[in-house]
Amino acid sequence: MTSLPPSLPPLQVTRWQIVARGLTNRCPNCGARTLFQTGKLFEMAPACPQCGLKIERDEGFFLGSMSLNYGFTVVVFLTPILIMAFHGVIAPAPAFIIGGIGAVVVPMLFYRSSRSWWLMNYYFVLPQHLPANQASRPGGEDENT
Ligand SMILES: [Zn+2]
Repeated sequence: MTSLPPSLPPLQVTRWQIVARGLTNRCPNCGARTLFQTGKLFEMAPACPQCGLKIERDEGFFLGSMSLNYGFTVVVFLTPILIMAFHGVIAPAPAFIIGGIGAVVVPMLFYRSSRSWWLMNYYFVLPQHLPANQASRPGGEDENT
């Protein structure tokens, strides 16, 4: 007969808090608005000045956010333009111009959110990697942090 492993203490930061913080571009660990450097639009902070969570990651970590940004632009912006042009709601020439300009502007506008959403995605799947959640966990549970 097998016995169940002892239950772990509850997480300090729940998955729903991680989602709420991610959707509002906040630090997943402490909830502060510190993901990006002050006064700069596109540069992430190396670490959260509030709690010290390492935000800067290995090269390639944020490739997922680029895919997210691309998918968002295609699904939310370009596809509706294409459908409207196909059905004659917009003439082809203006649709082409709007689509071309939007293909550049929409990813720029969504850049910060795509980074935050990707970080949210990571910690939603692995909430035990957040420093705030490691304090309530026994040592050695997860070596991938
Ligand atoms: Zn923080």
